[in-house]
Amino acid sequence: MTLNRRDFLKLAAAEGATGAAAVTAVTAGGSATAIAQDLRRDPRPMPEDAVGLLYDSTLCIGCRACQVACKRANGMPVEVPEQYEAWNGGTWDTPTDLSGDTLTVIQVYQDGTMEQKDREVDGYAFVKRQCMHCTDASCVSVCPVSAMTKDPQTGIVTHHPERCIGCRYCVLACPFNVPRYEFDEAFGQIQKCQLCSNLPDQDIPACADVCPTGATLFGHTDVLQAEAQRRLAMAPGETYAFPRGTLLRAEDGGAPVTDRARQVAPVAHYRQDIYGEEILGSTQCRMLAGVPFGLLGLPEDVPTTSYASITEGIQHTLYRYMVAPMLLLAGLVVFAYRSSRRHRPEDWD
Ligand code: SF4
Ligand code: SF4
Ligand code: SF4
Repeated sequence: MTLNRRDFLKLAAAEGATGAAAVTAVTAGGSATAIAQDLRRDPRPMPEDAVGLLYDSTLCIGCRACQVACKRANGMPVEVPEQYEAWNGGTWDTPTDLSGDTLTVIQVYQDGTMEQKDREVDGYAFVKRQCMHCTDASCVSVCPVSAMTKDPQTGIVTHHPERCIGCRYCVLACPFNVPRYEFDEAFGQIQKCQLCSNLPDQDIPACADVCPTGATLFGHTDVLQAEAQRRLAMAPGETYAFPRGTLLRAEDGGAPVTDRARQVAPVAHYRQDIYGEEILGSTQCRMLAGVPFGLLGLPEDVPTTSYASITEGIQHTLYRYMVAPMLLLAGLVVFAYRSSRRHRPEDWD
């Protein structure tokens, strides 16, 4: 019998499923679904002093100052995709996606004639991508060596390269496709936004610091959420003084204050939805937009509870007592045995 790679994967999956079923049946005596339910844990709550960004797509002018400031603050090089090399000669930083050298990127939705900003049909809209600093983060949950951690006070999700073994499990687990691996480096690392908390000279995130319109705003998540709700409650066209930089909690419980001059502008036609408020157990970075978030490339059709609360118990149970590695080893032994039988003279015909 010839066993190719596809056969092996099928076999390993089957052996694994059988083994897992046997193990779960023996240990708990119930159905796999019931056991999976039992292994769920409560979603982790947001820390009281959680911080994040509020990105308002309707205020964004696509200047990409945030992108440049992020690179400068984090010491990351210019990136020119292959398709742009011919016409700009590599003189202009034009990343099209997050990467090992780009922690935030401005992307654009375009439809038809692109006549009007923040309109779904014949319109366009900007979106800023970076780590969402999830309340119950998948990347933290799956990391086998605690190289991804969540600060108990601020909730900032940080990567620790000195602990990282480069397995890239966090890359696979992130629902927002954020952590990226430096594939072009001999000893590549995982890279992602850490809300500039890793930069001692940065009082506020560099992207929020330079944003000219206040489209990217820094602050405590509860303050940003209240600000987002305030904007959604206003009528389109109404004039509002939009805060820029940081939105600070007022000491006396009054209205929040900003650390620089506000920008007076008419309120746009918002979708009545704050992205990050409810999806996947919530995120500390939130967004507002005039077009559906799915059109901006953000996952929309996802559960409200965090993936980590569903899968962490199963994953940790499988790894406790080395069950998963043993199943993998068993699969490899079977594969090696069947392959070696093929080479015995008595099996030749
Ligand atoms: S967006 Fe991705 S990388 Fe950022 S905290 Fe959430 S799971 Fe982790
Ligand atoms: S918070 Fe800092 S690292 Fe994150 S996107 Fe903004 S500038 Fe870049
Ligand atoms: S700096 Fe502000 S306005 Fe400019 S692209 Fe970034 S978020 Fe948009």
